[in-house]
Amino acid sequence: MVCQRCGKNRPSADFYPRKRGGTARTTTCKMCVSKANASYYAKNRAAVLERVKARKLV
Ligand SMILES: [Zn+2]
Repeated sequence: MVCQRCGKNRPSADFYPRKRGGTARTTTCKMCVSKANASYYAKNRAAVLERVKARKLV
């Protein structure tokens, strides 16, 4: 499978399944997904923490 994000050919095991137990897989490899998650968190760290804080107060 070719990752739609980095364009590298990777084994299907490197892609997360779309549904639990399903054979359909995401078009973005695990490495790109974790990179995207990390950068999302880095960019939105303050907002994420605020949301967590707000939830705790309720
Ligand atoms: Zn990728």
